[in-house]
Amino acid sequence: MSDDFKVLIIGGGLGGLALAQALRKHGIAYEIFERDLAWDSRNQGWALSLHWILEDLLGQTPDDMPSFDHVSLGYEHGMEAEFAYFNAFTGEEQMRLSHSKEKPFLRSDRSKVRLWLMHKLDIQWNKHFIRYTEDSDGVTAYFEDGTSAKGSLLVGADGVNSKVRDQLMVGSGLKPRIIPLGNITSLVELPKEKYTKQLELGRSFFLAHSPNHRLFVGFRHFSKDEETASFYWRLSWYDKETQNEPYWTATASPEELMEYAREKTKDFFPLLTETLRATPPSGVVVPSLTFWDMLPIPLPTGRVTLLGDGIHPMSPFRGEGANFAMKDGLSLGQYLAERKNGETIPELLKRYESEMLIRGSGGVLKSRAAAEDHVKESDEADKRHNGDNSWLTARIKKQAGDQGFKRVVKD
Ligand SMILES: Cc1cc2nc3c(=O)[nH]c(=O)nc-3n(C[C@H](O)[C@H](O)[C@H](O)COP(=O)(O)OP(=O)(O)OC[C@H]3O[C@@H](n4cnc5c(N)ncnc54)[C@H](O)[C@@H]3O)c2cc1C
Repeated sequence: MSDDFKVLIIGGGLGGLALAQALRKHGIAYEIFERDLAWDSRNQGWALSLHWILEDLLGQTPDDMPSFDHVSLGYEHGMEAEFAYFNAFTGEEQMRLSHSKEKPFLRSDRSKVRLWLMHKLDIQWNKHFIRYTEDSDGVTAYFEDGTSAKGSLLVGADGVNSKVRDQLMVGSGLKPRIIPLGNITSLVELPKEKYTKQLELGRSFFLAHSPNHRLFVGFRHFSKDEETASFYWRLSWYDKETQNEPYWTATASPEELMEYAREKTKDFFPLLTETLRATPPSGVVVPSLTFWDMLPIPLPTGRVTLLGDGIHPMSPFRGEGANFAMKDGLSLGQYLAERKNGETIPELLKRYESEMLIRGSGGVLKSRAAAEDHVKESDEADKRHNGDNSWLTARIKKQAGDQGFKRVVKD
């Protein structure tokens, strides 16, 4: 690699940071630009499932990385990750899955993962990328503050609304689509007598399935004195109208959103909705989240490429988007470290992209199928009312198998 070889990374999210760490490991020069003012200037979201990426993440980052253990939720309390699925009406447990040494699964604190990935990186904060220019020598990135940076290649790791993608793929028609699912998301503190029972349902999280509505309840952390614990929940349902923005949840008040959530879950098995029913309207996230996905297409040949949500955003219903984004970053770092003699940057990027596009498309389609279960549940509502939800159990088992989880009960 020549002395002036440098990778420009736009976006200091999980994918961009993983790439920067892979480059640091191999001594390849990089500059990473993030529009946030500082690492903690914006809510990073709450929790993240990490599974098939763990081995690569720990193996392909530098040897001087700090311990990863503390990013795990409930680590101080020796809580290993575990989740379960329930029939929402009967409360019957359909499946329980957990971490095992052979098939690691970690429920992590999202901001701690980002902080871990930032270790020893020189991140340039408050750098809002606006456009780039490319010539035969390299690429120049321009920022809102009037500054610019020159590099040998540029990587758009700038998430679902990627500005790098907008410029690179202009005229291609490539655009994320809204997944037709409504949702209400909320945070709540529970006292010890309540949180103990909720953790028994699923130490990391649990899901309750009804024909039309699905309830996810996840643990976040304990208070210092352990008298309370913080949880969050999400009620989601299929509705094509979400694709005609603004959907009603975007403008509804917290009180209206809570009223809807209570009404739609009133016949659920009571223990499964304790968290939801304990939530004051002030805990509701407004406006509600919008879920996106996009099937990637081949990128133009050149010195600019994309990774993660910038090229293959996927529904969160398999908990995999960040696993894919970090895999892209690590894999691109590896291609650069093992660059073939005489290989040009566009040639190298083509090799990375052909692998990334296949992997990413698979992720988008599988995550789309997981989201579409909401629809299937509507179609199969009659069957499910008669107690036959074998199709769902089969699907969940298949997903668990795909992701390599160990099934611990209910075969
Ligand atoms: C509700 C929900 C739950 C999820 N749960 C999971 C889960 O359990 N497991 C999992 O693997 N995935 C999960 N995901 C998906 C995961 O969050 C994403 O796939 C992942 O964060 C993508 O990483 P990324 O680095 O590509 O993009 P991002 O994490 O979005 O990072 C992009 C970065 O680029 C910066 N940026 C954007 N524009 C600019 C600009 N113009 N200039 C400079 N910087 C810019 C942003 O500020 C941001 O820091 C979930 C997603 C959602 C919505």
